[in-house]
Amino acid sequence: MNEIIKNKILSSIHRDKNDIVQFTKDLVAVATENPPGNHYKPCVDLIENKLFEIGLDCEIIEVPESESLKRYCIVSSYGAGEDTLYFHGHYDVVPASSNKQFNPLIKSGKLYGRGSADMKSGLAAMIYAVKAIKNAETDLKGSIGLTLVPDEETGGILGSQYLSERGILGRNGIGMLTPEPTSGVVWNANRGAISFKITINGKPAHVGLQHEGINAFEKMLPLANALLELKEEVESRVTRYSVQPDSARHSILMMGGQSGGGSNFNLVPGEFSFTLDRRINPEEELETEKQKLVDVIETIRDEGIDLEYQIFQEGYSSGVREDIPLARALVSNIETVMGKPPEFEMCPGLLEIRFYAQKGIPAFAYGPGLLTVSHGPDEYVEIDNIMKHTAIYAFTALDMLE
Ligand SMILES: [Zn+2]
Repeated sequence: MNEIIKNKILSSIHRDKNDIVQFTKDLVAVATENPPGNHYKPCVDLIENKLFEIGLDCEIIEVPESESLKRYCIVSSYGAGEDTLYFHGHYDVVPASSNKQFNPLIKSGKLYGRGSADMKSGLAAMIYAVKAIKNAETDLKGSIGLTLVPDEETGGILGSQYLSERGILGRNGIGMLTPEPTSGVVWNANRGAISFKITINGKPAHVGLQHEGINAFEKMLPLANALLELKEEVESRVTRYSVQPDSARHSILMMGGQSGGGSNFNLVPGEFSFTLDRRINPEEELETEKQKLVDVIETIRDEGIDLEYQIFQEGYSSGVREDIPLARALVSNIETVMGKPPEFEMCPGLLEIRFYAQKGIPAFAYGPGLLTVSHGPDEYVEIDNIMKHTAIYAFTALDMLE
């Protein structure tokens, strides 16, 4: 990228500073809490108006599966070529600790409010990065695609997954960036998830008439033991992706996050249920790992334990190499703007880069917020960081599309 273009980008961002902050505040003020998925329409309207103001066309895709609370995805692009670098983000936020979080507040260079870090400041940065590129009036050999979705905080079924199944997500993609609050590192990998709820059925009876009942808790124990054996095998595996501290490298099988049953100490429990949360490393395959769990559960069931199970969450793991052109462009621009190159790390949770990685599109998360304050009562973002990230997104897109 030549210096003239670079300076045009920086002056555009500098000129727009107040607008970028105001737009972030406006987004934060719309309480798009998910669950359940509140106020999506006003937020979508706000974004649509902003894109229109910048001179970008956009399409609002209504997700037909959504019932009481409607879901909308926003897709837009700038440029003419087929090859597309995606800026991808979600506009839902986790529920607030108090309604005050929807009154954005600026104090000592920080913007406070729910979604300020995760990830409404990131949406503003990406949209204004496109505006800065547009203002620079340079020819692109491809396009920048903006894909903004709801429901990320609850697994993305009616957001990214819907777009993915329709062939809209990542179309002609050469790469993707998403502004999750990564605290200065770049996430190039994520764990996948397979979450079960298992219920063991018994028959209640008074303790004195125990012989007439079936104890669901005691019937659960052989299953728990079989799962513990699998846990030992699973958790001996470690990822080669970077994650801090070292003890976090192990694959995960956790039981009992939610568990319970029975109604009193002196009654044979007629039912007992517990959850099973399997988090797979990028090297592990979702279908294989799911089947292993199903096999353990069904073996016990076939031995005569009355049980049922449901899988209430499934998400792929993913991992992207650190030496591909998009990674190198991102690192070099982060170094230019922030003064030092970033580390790569695996995100400990689900991450929407997985929808792109599944299609062979390299995807990275890097955003202006801190992970430690996201989802918390004092969520904030450094205003200066929003501006810097706007520049990093614009520079990286230009490097990929010039
Ligand atoms: Zn997020």
